[in-house]
Amino acid sequence: MLMTSERRSVIRTIRGWTIYVLQEASAIRECEEHGWMQDRADPHARERAFDIARRAPPVGVSPDAAEAEVRDVLNSIGDTCPECPSD
Ligand SMILES: [Zn+2]
Repeated sequence: MLMTSERRSVIRTIRGWTIYVLQEASAIRECEEHGWMQDRADPHARERAFDIARRAPPVGVSPDAAEAEVRDVLNSIGDTCPECPSD
Protein backbone atom coordinates (compact mmCIF):
# COMPACT_ATOMS: atom_id res chain seq x y z
CA MET A 1 0.00 0.00 0.00
CA LEU A 2 2.84 2.34 0.83
CA MET A 3 4.36 1.75 -2.60
CA THR A 4 1.07 2.64 -4.27
CA SER A 5 0.58 5.92 -2.43
CA GLU A 6 4.19 6.91 -3.04
CA ARG A 7 3.77 6.27 -6.73
CA ARG A 8 0.56 8.31 -6.79
CA SER A 9 2.22 11.27 -5.12
CA VAL A 10 4.99 11.19 -7.74
CA ILE A 11 2.39 11.27 -10.50
CA ARG A 12 0.54 14.12 -8.78
CA THR A 13 3.64 16.30 -8.58
CA ILE A 14 5.33 15.49 -11.90
CA ARG A 15 3.05 17.92 -13.75
CA GLY A 16 4.18 20.75 -11.48
CA TRP A 17 7.80 19.72 -11.93
CA THR A 18 7.39 19.66 -15.72
CA ILE A 19 5.88 23.15 -15.77
CA TYR A 20 8.81 24.34 -13.66
CA VAL A 21 11.36 22.79 -16.07
CA LEU A 22 9.60 24.30 -19.08
CA GLN A 23 9.62 27.73 -17.46
CA GLU A 24 13.28 27.36 -16.49
CA ALA A 25 14.11 26.60 -20.12
CA SER A 26 11.86 29.47 -21.29
CA ALA A 27 9.91 26.98 -23.42
CA ILE A 28 6.64 28.29 -21.99
CA ARG A 29 5.57 31.52 -20.36
CA GLU A 30 2.68 32.57 -18.22
CA CYS A 31 0.19 35.18 -19.44
CA GLU A 32 0.78 38.13 -17.11
CA GLU A 33 -2.90 39.04 -17.08
CA HIS A 34 -4.63 35.67 -16.92
CA GLY A 35 -2.01 33.19 -15.75
CA TRP A 36 -2.45 30.72 -18.63
CA MET A 37 0.65 28.89 -19.77
CA GLN A 38 1.61 29.57 -23.36
CA ASP A 39 3.95 27.59 -25.58
CA ARG A 40 6.65 29.94 -26.88
CA ALA A 41 7.26 27.63 -29.88
CA ASP A 42 11.01 28.06 -29.45
CA PRO A 43 12.81 24.88 -30.59
CA HIS A 44 16.00 25.77 -28.68
CA ALA A 45 14.08 26.34 -25.46
CA ARG A 46 12.29 23.01 -25.98
CA GLU A 47 15.64 21.30 -26.46
CA ARG A 48 16.86 22.85 -23.20
CA ALA A 49 13.77 21.58 -21.39
CA PHE A 50 14.27 18.03 -22.72
CA ASP A 51 17.91 18.25 -21.70
CA ILE A 52 17.02 19.29 -18.13
CA ALA A 53 14.41 16.51 -17.95
CA ARG A 54 16.89 13.85 -19.07
CA ARG A 55 19.71 15.03 -16.81
CA ALA A 56 17.69 15.72 -13.67
CA PRO A 57 14.40 13.79 -13.66
CA PRO A 58 12.32 13.89 -10.46
CA VAL A 59 12.97 11.20 -7.86
CA GLY A 60 11.38 7.92 -8.95
CA VAL A 61 11.04 8.98 -12.59
CA SER A 62 13.31 7.64 -15.34
CA PRO A 63 14.95 10.07 -17.80
CA ASP A 64 12.82 8.62 -20.61
CA ALA A 65 9.60 9.07 -18.64
CA ALA A 66 10.59 12.62 -17.68
CA GLU A 67 11.28 13.48 -21.31
CA ALA A 68 7.95 11.97 -22.38
CA GLU A 69 6.18 14.02 -19.71
CA VAL A 70 7.76 17.24 -20.99
CA ARG A 71 6.62 16.37 -24.52
CA ASP A 72 3.14 15.59 -23.20
CA VAL A 73 2.79 18.90 -21.39
CA LEU A 74 4.13 20.83 -24.39
CA ASN A 75 1.49 19.17 -26.58
CA SER A 76 -1.24 20.15 -24.13
CA ILE A 77 -0.27 23.84 -23.97
CA GLY A 78 -1.46 26.21 -26.68
CA ASP A 79 0.66 29.01 -28.11
CA THR A 80 -1.84 31.70 -27.18
CA CYS A 81 -3.68 32.62 -24.00
CA PRO A 82 -7.33 31.56 -24.37
CA GLU A 83 -8.48 34.72 -22.57
CA CYS A 84 -6.37 37.29 -24.38
CA PRO A 85 -8.12 38.94 -27.32
CA SER A 86 -6.58 37.70 -30.57
CA ASP A 87 -6.13 40.15 -33.36
ZN1 LIG B 1 -4.07 36.32 -21.26
